[in-house]
Amino acid sequence: MSTTTMAAATGIPQARAWRGLPALAAAIVGVLALSTLVPEQGYTLNIFMQAATYSIAVAGLVVVLGYCGQISLAQAAFFGLGAYGVALGTVDFGLPFFVALLAGVVSATVFGVALGLASLRLGGHYLAMVTISFQQILTLVLTNWAGLTHGPDGVKNIARPSVPGLRLESGDHYLGLCLVTLMGITWYIWRLKTTRLGRAMQAVRDNEIAASTCGIDIFATKVLAFGISAVLGGLGGGLFAGAFAYISPDQFGFGESIVLLTMALLGGVQSPFGALLGTGLLVILPEWLRFLRQVYLAVYGAAVILIMVFLPDGLWGLTHRLRRPAPVAAGAVAPLPLLSQRGTETAEIAMAINGLAKHFGGLKALDGVDMAVRRGTVHALIGPNGSGKTTFINVVTGLYRPTAGRIAIAGQDVTGTAPHQRTRRGLARTFQNIRVFRGMTVLENVMVGAERPGNDIAEQPALVVERALAALDFVGLRGDAHRMVGTLSYGTQRYVEIARALAGSPQVLLLDEPAAGLNLSEKHELGLLLRRLKGHGLTILIVDHDMNLVEQVADHITVLNFGRRIADGGPRDVLSHPDVIAAYLGEPRQDAAA
Ligand code: ADP
Ligand code: MG
Repeated sequence: MSTTTMAAATGIPQARAWRGLPALAAAIVGVLALSTLVPEQGYTLNIFMQAATYSIAVAGLVVVLGYCGQISLAQAAFFGLGAYGVALGTVDFGLPFFVALLAGVVSATVFGVALGLASLRLGGHYLAMVTISFQQILTLVLTNWAGLTHGPDGVKNIARPSVPGLRLESGDHYLGLCLVTLMGITWYIWRLKTTRLGRAMQAVRDNEIAASTCGIDIFATKVLAFGISAVLGGLGGGLFAGAFAYISPDQFGFGESIVLLTMALLGGVQSPFGALLGTGLLVILPEWLRFLRQVYLAVYGAAVILIMVFLPDGLWGLTHRLRRPAPVAAGAVAPLPLLSQRGTETAEIAMAINGLAKHFGGLKALDGVDMAVRRGTVHALIGPNGSGKTTFINVVTGLYRPTAGRIAIAGQDVTGTAPHQRTRRGLARTFQNIRVFRGMTVLENVMVGAERPGNDIAEQPALVVERALAALDFVGLRGDAHRMVGTLSYGTQRYVEIARALAGSPQVLLLDEPAAGLNLSEKHELGLLLRRLKGHGLTILIVDHDMNLVEQVADHITVLNFGRRIADGGPRDVLSHPDVIAAYLGEPRQDAAA
């Protein structure tokens, strides 16, 4: 099956890249026709102008908060930068409207990227704190640097663009410009969600650690999401300035940032359509409630709080309850290309660890561990609880920096590199405590795995879908491809994790206690799956407690105790080693010794 028919048959998000374009064109024509019904000036026009320009800024919040999970409290500041760009550019510097708009958007972008670079490396709520400060500083500057900004009086007589033939100076035509821009942006953001970048953002939102071990550069992804939100804030603000011809600093204060955030959350921050809905409502709601006079604010506040409490996904989230996942097409997929080099090159070392140490304060979780994992073998790492097995995997995958020692994958030293860089060498892992991307479907989770940098098909969307389906086929979850991963049982999520790792066609697969939390029959299934993987000759490092399983699948065993390697070799020798029996098994094992 060719890749395009494959994508069409499965109806997968990626394949929809250009879907919706005809609908977009039709919608633009329709909206332009409708906008001619809006009066050329006055109250109704202003309501529409406000809703359209605010919606563009709110769409930015969908990207940074909805997709990427980062709280930004300065969207009104970026809106203000765009607005002042247009205002000062056209009024004081005599620039053409679109040049001034570009200047406004660029300044919003520059500040946005700079703030992102400065704060996003730190994680946690630094972005929220930094954006609050930036918001306050900008308000002070706009108010007090009167020489540049006209101070608290604001800027008057802002011109609209003049394009021959388009009559954009007239209110209803300018509204048309704003609406077309808004629709293009809504379409772009709706589409973004189903691209590799959009999936990376959502993966970062749902689980940073898992995202980094899937090869996603967390920092770059967050800065990009925040940068896009600043661009859209600036663009919305620039168009706003042209719409109202007058702006002043109080329109871009911290309170306005909260209003924009409320719009996004109310409508549904996961979707650009939610942003439209929320913005429309919050622009119109105060007008509807005007008859309430004094109690207006209380009613307005209560309405917003009620909707947010009872509809955590916003109003647009309601549509998800109506939507039913599309059935998964039954068409054949090319089988998962797993390494099959068993017996040919088993002498080659896939992963070499030398003198690896990791100290937490005084605790030596790892204390000079050596290990060589041969290509095409299953290597088991065992040891009592707390002996350093998970720490070992965390250091090898780059989540922890080693205190000493070296790690080489396929002959390449990767000791100092970040987790996402190591995945390039073909490292993939699962976690003792499951780390899936809960806000995404099963298929999307596995697609993130297939998009591992360095994977042969990572840049080809249709093949990514196919590879992900093949991985789901392999673990028996193809029928659940379109389900949200958070609705699955613990045991099934474990398989999603394994499929996510397999979809990246790893050179070395690290499994940290894959049987943890599984019931007996699930454990049995897992044993079968491991044997199938072993049959394909995949190189696996497995940590497990189940001695029967380890004995059945392992070609080689390394034993840790208190962070030190106490035995290393073939299963029979290792499991009958007196130190191992003493440290790990507690008492001699008759069957192993026999
Ligand atoms: P295992 O996976 O073999 O059960 P771990 O590698 O999880 O063991 O833990 C080894 C030791 O390191 C334990 O004593 C644990 O408490 C300690 N440890 C693990 N991670 C950390 C951490 N992030 N900070 C401090 N101590 C840690
Ligand atoms: Mg562990």
